[in-house]
Amino acid sequence: MPLMEPYRIKVVEPIPITTRPERERAMAAAGYNPFNLRADQVTIDLLTDSGTGSISADQQAAGMRGDESYAGGRSFYRFHEVVSDLTSYPHIFPAHQGRAAERILFAALLRPGQTSLSNTHFDTTRANVELLGCEARDLPCPEARNLDSDFPFKGDIDLAELERALGDPGCDVGVVVMTITNNGGGGQPVSMANMRAAAEVCRRHGVPFFLDAARFAENAWLVTQREPGYAHKTPLEVAREAFALADGCAASLKKDGIVHMGGIIAMRDPELARRCEQLLIAGEGFPTYGGLSGRELEMLAQGLREVVEPDYLRSRAAATANLARMVTEAGVDIVQPAGIHALYLNAGRLLPGIPPHRFPGHALATELYLAGGVRCVELGSLFLGDVDAEGRLVTPAPFELVRLAIPRRVYTQSHFEYVAEVVAEVAKNPERMPGYRLVESPAVLRHFKCRLEPVPPGTP
Ligand SMILES: *Cc1c(COP(=O)(O)O)cnc(C)c1O
Repeated sequence: MPLMEPYRIKVVEPIPITTRPERERAMAAAGYNPFNLRADQVTIDLLTDSGTGSISADQQAAGMRGDESYAGGRSFYRFHEVVSDLTSYPHIFPAHQGRAAERILFAALLRPGQTSLSNTHFDTTRANVELLGCEARDLPCPEARNLDSDFPFKGDIDLAELERALGDPGCDVGVVVMTITNNGGGGQPVSMANMRAAAEVCRRHGVPFFLDAARFAENAWLVTQREPGYAHKTPLEVAREAFALADGCAASLKKDGIVHMGGIIAMRDPELARRCEQLLIAGEGFPTYGGLSGRELEMLAQGLREVVEPDYLRSRAAATANLARMVTEAGVDIVQPAGIHALYLNAGRLLPGIPPHRFPGHALATELYLAGGVRCVELGSLFLGDVDAEGRLVTPAPFELVRLAIPRRVYTQSHFEYVAEVVAEVAKNPERMPGYRLVESPAVLRHFKCRLEPVPPGTP
């Protein structure tokens, strides 16, 4: 099967084509923060794969059937049927997005002072744990620390560390969260063997085991491709098996639900469900809509069916792998092996002349915009490092990466070829790239609102 999208285009949206001087002005006005750019200044938007997917004709049609009744709408029952078939959980609640689902689940599950353990907490997941006065502790497997290792399941949790933490009487663990795929850890998949073993350890210690299942279908696809014994299974079968191992899940459906807005909380424990339901009604909406419209619930139900189709997943994984190949050939190393929802460029290695406090990842991301209108985001010292009140970097991040996130069903092969050309162009002259300094740096969620300024290459 050639590398080909298994769909054709029925509705199109023009993308802005801009000149370099226009982009230079736009970036300067944005304070060199890609989050401050207007979308009409961006040619290819690889900022995130969240809520940015294309809707299918069948989803659009399903949306027309949306039942907007306040309580007991038909759309909820159609949504419930699909999620119940996928997860086997008896208690299912919609929520408006992933972080709302997490906030409700953790508030119902955790007491102040408890610890949440995870392969890696996503940033909003960590924030919601910490807001409850709890600790979020990441236990990634050792292979995850080697960016170049092609270990197939770098999203795995470290089972020895998990066992140790659960056996530690000084550590009151309230939940173990397995993020599939491991977004904070480079979008790497978690093996079924690791999930099964983690579930077993949790059961032995009487601690709830939950999935953060934003990319459950992409994880399932990579399992069929990489894990012995799963090649003959369908992604749907693998996904069902993963959900069956856990006590419940919270998920953003803006990723593998292929909708613009949506989330879910689901579980087995009726008592926990009752507590979640109260918080849901207080904060999101009546349990049969949970902050979503009937139209969105219908589109979600259909999106959850489409996302597990093997032809779709095969094409998506192949497109990312092909971009990875083109980028690597252009001389830019990526976090190996390529996952599905994003590529992570190793900016630290490409730009040894830019020290961490001049934000090499940010320098590369900015240059990709200036050179070709490609918007992406730094995942390095600007996002993850510690910065003092004057905006000086105190502790750098372990790696200086740039994430190229791939929206679902949005860009074609020729768009990716264009992106690869822009990367190649930029990678030709790394020594000419300026570094950056922070001129405005909010204390929380810095990367969303900070402003920066270029400093000439070679500035200490
Ligand atoms: C996106 C994401 C979330 C948060 O979901 P939102 O819908 O953005 O609120 C939580 N966990 C993971 C792994 C995610 O990728």
